[in-house]
Amino acid sequence: MLLPIVHKETVLSIGFDDTDSPKGMCTTYLAYRLIESLRKENVKFVDYPRLVRFNPNIPWKTRGNGAVSFTVKTSRPQRIKAKVIRFVSKFSDLKNGANPGVVFYESEKVPDDFTQFSRDALWSLVSRKRAREFIRKNGLESFHIGNGQGLVGALGAIGYRFEDHTYELLSYRKRKRFGTKRQVDPTSVKRMQERFDKTFNSYDTKKEKVLLAPRGPDPVLYGVRGEDVRTLIDASTMIRSEDPAGYLVFKSNQGTGDHLQNELDVLALKPYSSGRITGVVSKEPKMHKGGHVMFCITKDCVEINCAVYRPTGITRNAMELVVGDRIQVGGGIRRASKTHPRTLNVEFFKVLKLQKKQILVNPTCEKCDKKMKSKGRGQGFECARCGCKRTSKSVQYVKRNIRKGLYIPQSSAHRHLTRPQKRIGIVNTDSNFSERVRWFSSYKN
Ligand SMILES: [Zn+2]
Repeated sequence: MLLPIVHKETVLSIGFDDTDSPKGMCTTYLAYRLIESLRKENVKFVDYPRLVRFNPNIPWKTRGNGAVSFTVKTSRPQRIKAKVIRFVSKFSDLKNGANPGVVFYESEKVPDDFTQFSRDALWSLVSRKRAREFIRKNGLESFHIGNGQGLVGALGAIGYRFEDHTYELLSYRKRKRFGTKRQVDPTSVKRMQERFDKTFNSYDTKKEKVLLAPRGPDPVLYGVRGEDVRTLIDASTMIRSEDPAGYLVFKSNQGTGDHLQNELDVLALKPYSSGRITGVVSKEPKMHKGGHVMFCITKDCVEINCAVYRPTGITRNAMELVVGDRIQVGGGIRRASKTHPRTLNVEFFKVLKLQKKQILVNPTCEKCDKKMKSKGRGQGFECARCGCKRTSKSVQYVKRNIRKGLYIPQSSAHRHLTRPQKRIGIVNTDSNFSERVRWFSSYKN
């Protein structure tokens, strides 16, 4: 009797990055097209595809420094890998400077050193060389075009371990509309946001501005972000827009603030690293041209320049800080230039302890309860009524116009990784992947 040949199923993780350029395309769109095709190959997805954002303070990132990975069960891994390479070669924006990289990993469990690599890419600058060495040392299958920059994110996306996550439903445009003005009705977005509390950063109610649609030439129509997949699917049906081509839901570290979780070593601050520093305000805030606020904090005898930029909307709060306040600042380290010292660009600050703010005032006469008059520079003070004298001013404490707590930028100034106000205190660890949820959809048919 002839038995049918049964191929053993293997678990295959696929990571890719840097397929896009500022001029068009998008790594998530490549994922969308690829998954559309893989669904015909009888592969089983074991979780939602992952959209992982890495260190936003690296100067040569494209739009959001986001990489994609997904994991499937398949009995034909070689065929799948060949298809991935074909898609990445075909859809990457090579003309405009994309340097795509793809990494494959065949195993149920992703080892810890992948996760460490990924963490490093989240807050520091990881070189292409380190990625290539990691690939060689672990004997991984990989593929790249150009300088291999994409290998860093491809590896990182496979290794990323979510301790908190969100989801994004990305809706894509029909090809004939690429590059044309997006049709998304703002009122419908506003209503959607009001109705679905588990979504975030869709609409800026202060500026009456749609936040969920990009403005560039990429194929994304809009992206709805939130805490669970069903909510996003329901929410997206409320948005009135041009006809999309389809959508794909990603699990993501967007909105988690994870790039600012680590305390930076002030004695070894590296340009382009992200993180937080806890210290004491050591130079009082000053507002500079353009409305940006600069101040200094000191930790372990190292003074660090901090800049709060006007678009964050928290410059007024920063101006209220005084020398002696104990605060934590999170952000990215900008390299020193001819005109600026090395600076931490503030993405949030948290007031931990307020210093008493004091001002010097003319002394009060204890007998008459009247303010004394100055007798002239360096001449001391005298009570006009009883003639009582004092040599120096007295200290008066004034009410502070800032409270202990967290100060984060307004939503229009958020980056992908910024933890929005709504998510403060939320840790999303649900892991209820189901093929019954419609996490992928293509309307073409
Ligand atoms: Zn007096």
